Amino acid sequence: MTLTTKILIGMGFGLIIGSLINAFAMEQAIIQDYFVNGIFHVIGAAFINSLKMLVVPLVTFSLICGVCGIGDVGALGRIGIKSFLLYILTTGLAISLALLIAITIAPGKDFEQQQSSTEFVAKASPPITDVFINIIPGNPIEAFAQGNMLQIIFFVILFAIAMLMTGEIGLQLAETAEKLNEVMMKVVTLVMDVAPVGVFCLMAKTFSEQGLALILPMIGYFSVVILCLLLHALGTFSILLTVFAKLNPIIFIKKMRPAHIFAFSTASSNATIPVTLQVLEKRIGVDNSTAAFTVPFGATINMDGTAIMQGVATVFIANVYQIDLGFTQYITIVGMSILASIGTAGVPGVGLIMLAMVFNQVGLPVEGIGLILGVDRLLDMMRTVVNITGDATVTCIVARGENTLDDTVFNDPDAGVIAEIHLPHKAA
Ligand code: ASP
Repeated sequence: MTLTTKILIGMGFGLIIGSLINAFAMEQAIIQDYFVNGIFHVIGAAFINSLKMLVVPLVTFSLICGVCGIGDVGALGRIGIKSFLLYILTTGLAISLALLIAITIAPGKDFEQQQSSTEFVAKASPPITDVFINIIPGNPIEAFAQGNMLQIIFFVILFAIAMLMTGEIGLQLAETAEKLNEVMMKVVTLVMDVAPVGVFCLMAKTFSEQGLALILPMIGYFSVVILCLLLHALGTFSILLTVFAKLNPIIFIKKMRPAHIFAFSTASSNATIPVTLQVLEKRIGVDNSTAAFTVPFGATINMDGTAIMQGVATVFIANVYQIDLGFTQYITIVGMSILASIGTAGVPGVGLIMLAMVFNQVGLPVEGIGLILGVDRLLDMMRTVVNITGDATVTCIVARGENTLDDTVFNDPDAGVIAEIHLPHKAA
């Protein structure tokens, strides 16, 4: 049995056990204290931490190797611009599709307002101007300590370019970075070994708290978001992959499975970076020189699934509050969601903060977000899957253009299958 299958089984079991607890044992203090808020919470949170632990060192070493692998500042700039434009394009397509479908189906038209809504207090969102200023870290150590991805990318690229310019010394450092990267990839594999249990606990905890009762009153909104996510993931991405990356989308989706499982159970594109990187490099055949840059970059600035949620949520809340949105407001929504996805990191629940930005801009009541709060966690899991699929799609398109995509790896079903590793025993 492959590790991915084991993780998938962990996920399925977690979903079933969680849903059973939600349906039958919500009031049982023992189950709540010892399992939901005990074992499931502790192991799940520890597992997320162990994934997050990998992100900064892995991105750093891998990006240094990537830049040194490209070896030419012009090519680096080209990859940067291409991926940036493609990320904006896919987010633009996502939000436009969501608005179009939501306006047509009009969820929330006959929604009964008195239904219970949770209080939502919007956290302050970063002003757009700051987003650009803050790409440059005032203190790189602080950026590393806080895991600020855009700042880390900026500093590491600059550092690696300087390495290229310093000849022999830089070369020696590059060789060291390569070794460190290799070891870091092994650390990823070690963490993966405990993933079946980690994923089980995450799923059991989430589903014991999220029952059907929360979804039913919101079924209109919920299903329109899912419909748009599916259309974008299976439609838009498949077309882009076939036309621009010349890849078979079915094989692509199959190979992405481990990354999808991690994105779904963690609801965080950032925490999934190590798995996305590994899948793209080892299973899909994208060279490290492209993926090392486009994956962490995409996890931060590209959020197609989140943009879709925002489009549908805006139309839904406008319908509930019977507010008519005009054409200019729709254009503002498209622009705002693109900007918001650039300015915020891929962590759980950030989509709601971005939504508050959009609402403020078009004059919708921010407290309306309270209505969709209850079902947001589940949608967050699903849109994170779409977010990382977007990152991977753009990575493949850029790699095809740069000639850094190995079709033999892509067409080999067994390439890079995530395997369990066996710890070496101490020599006698
Ligand atoms: N959880 C999403 C991500 O990490 C962001 C969001 O939609 O809240 O990609």
